[in-house]
Amino acid sequence: MSKKIESLAILPRVWDILSEKATKVCENAYAPYSKYKVGCALELEDGTIVTGANQENASYPLSMCAERVAVFSAKSQYPHLSITKIFITVNRHSPDVSPIAPCGACRQVIYEAQSRQDTPIEILSGSTSAGYHHFHSAEALLPHPFGPQDLKKAKH
Ligand SMILES: [Zn+2]
Repeated sequence: MSKKIESLAILPRVWDILSEKATKVCENAYAPYSKYKVGCALELEDGTIVTGANQENASYPLSMCAERVAVFSAKSQYPHLSITKIFITVNRHSPDVSPIAPCGACRQVIYEAQSRQDTPIEILSGSTSAGYHHFHSAEALLPHPFGPQDLKKAKH
């Protein structure tokens, strides 16, 4: 389950930094079709921040969400570093009525990233106008997940 919070002020300062980076990287979204520009900033255990923005394609199914761009980039560059925090936001001209939330595919990818490490990934999504969803782990984002543990149980 997630908890809704209204402001980042009650959280550690690093969330402000991640919010700024995610908002900034929205400018790099390539979203000519949906006009829905999403930015993601994640923090690694050594403090490194990796960002991603959604990238669309004229062949719509090939488009990629900001969260997966960021997670795959982080795991490509720093495969042995754990992800500690993920912040997701959307850059819209009109005020948001509710916080953005990751799609199902991104929830699955974040869960798998967490499965590769010993510590939970904390996830925050939203904006100043809409408030934020706060998830304390990937399981809070994706209850009853399918993951690497299920394939280990499979009999051949
Ligand atoms: Zn997604």
